[in-house]
Amino acid sequence: MTRYIFITGGVVSSLGKGLATAALGAVLQAHGYSVRLRKLDPYLNVDPGTMSPTQHGEVFVTDDGAETDLDLGHYERFAGVTTNKQDNITTGRIYTNVLSRERRGDYLGATIQVVPHVTDEIQDFIKAADGTADFVLIELGGTVGDIEILPFLEAIRQFRNEIGHKRVMFAHMTLLPYISVAGEYKTKPTQHSVSELLSHGIQPNVLMCRADRVLTDGERKKIAQFCNVSPENVVSAPDAKTIYQVPITYHEEGLDRAVLNYFDLPFSKPDLSRWENIVHTVQNPEGAVTIAVVGKYVTLLDSYKSLIEALHHGGIANKTRVNLRWVDAEKLEKTGLEELQDVQGILVPGGFGERGTEGKIRAITYARENKIPYFGICFGMQMAVIEASRNLGSLPEANSSELRPENPQNVVGLMTEWLKGNELETRHETTDLGGTMRLGAYPCFLEQGSLASKIYGGAEISERHRHRYEVNINYKTNYNQAGLVFSGMSPDNKLPEIIERNDHPWFIGVQFHPELKSKPFAPHPLFKSFIAAAMKQERLV
Ligand code: GLN
Repeated sequence: MTRYIFITGGVVSSLGKGLATAALGAVLQAHGYSVRLRKLDPYLNVDPGTMSPTQHGEVFVTDDGAETDLDLGHYERFAGVTTNKQDNITTGRIYTNVLSRERRGDYLGATIQVVPHVTDEIQDFIKAADGTADFVLIELGGTVGDIEILPFLEAIRQFRNEIGHKRVMFAHMTLLPYISVAGEYKTKPTQHSVSELLSHGIQPNVLMCRADRVLTDGERKKIAQFCNVSPENVVSAPDAKTIYQVPITYHEEGLDRAVLNYFDLPFSKPDLSRWENIVHTVQNPEGAVTIAVVGKYVTLLDSYKSLIEALHHGGIANKTRVNLRWVDAEKLEKTGLEELQDVQGILVPGGFGERGTEGKIRAITYARENKIPYFGICFGMQMAVIEASRNLGSLPEANSSELRPENPQNVVGLMTEWLKGNELETRHETTDLGGTMRLGAYPCFLEQGSLASKIYGGAEISERHRHRYEVNINYKTNYNQAGLVFSGMSPDNKLPEIIERNDHPWFIGVQFHPELKSKPFAPHPLFKSFIAAAMKQERLV
């Protein structure tokens, strides 16, 4: 029997609700239960694909090609589950569904209203959970009190009445601000946030209280009394030194006990050894490396969420600490390469648009010439191909159609047709921007004897994509002259997926996003190998 836990947030945004949902999933797994994690996003975009990374953070892509909220990345990294299209929905998508049904005439003349039509659509989404997981955890994006969240609160209230209180729990995460002049943590915003929820008919069963430390018994009792929750169900969610500590902390603070009690399930000691080992490795590194990430969205590091985690996973695999140096590619164009001089590895991540591209290319030249390990991801691979074509090949004007549509030497261009399995997918310059890239998991064949095949230890891999442009294989002679080797290709041999250089200790570009599949307990082989190569560099000054 599937049980549902809805996680809402109150007081302020950015409390780490996604992380909390993921960590709760991990603790329930440690008790032997299976989990599925999903997210309801109240914003009006149909998906986050067209949103600016510096506003909304990374777009997390699933195997089946959905562009989703970055919290799904947390879910995969903590619970090891593979999320899919059915695990994230937005108000925009809900309305798109409702309105296309209205146009088809499916509502038989009814007046379409938020209640019941929109709320029913939300409930249908919730019910679409496959039913095999012991627990389905559903996070509500945004904060209680937002206008957009109202239909979602109404939908989950109705859902609970329909399937029964014993199968549905409401967990609410709030903030306790510390007021230094009073020398106290204040509970009032939590009380207000709970009363706001109550005004929509939702009494939270558990409160997860964010503060920089653990609550005192007095604070727990006070919150319990004012918010109509038993004191054991007021759980501290203190700041953690490493995010991988959070499942352990939640167990120590009694969140798992509160949840299992609520559902009348027996409680025994969970097996948290996976998390204990990871935390131990993170806290006791045997060395350190510094990696420069040369990107454009460095003002909001959430834009690189999975990348940051994957680099740390590479560190965990090598028992080393990975220090990240964020280098603004645009600044690098003006101020020169000084920031790269003492790093052991250089990475150019995914990106869109022209700003900063020349800085990225300069960083790549520097990594190539000085034999510093280089890892190019998606745009970072495209830039590496442009760099080599310009500086070593026969195309001094090499560029990408994304940046110079009319340029005759574009080594990166728009492919209008390609195969996904047996299906032909198409796109054109005029195609909508939203949801029309090469998205999701695609197979890739590795060249025998290449560095990539050694790293992966196999001949065929599958990785997730999110890009519109491709390296143009027709410039093969130029690439050979430039010393580029294509060590991974699409099964039809048309789309280059991995490049490397034989004249360099570690120089790899990948057209896909390997960071999306890395887990702390299963670090991605490319990140593991990249960090290992960086550790061999003696550039520490
Ligand atoms: N802008 C490039 C493209 O669309 C690369 C995208 C990316 O790095 N994810 O092809």
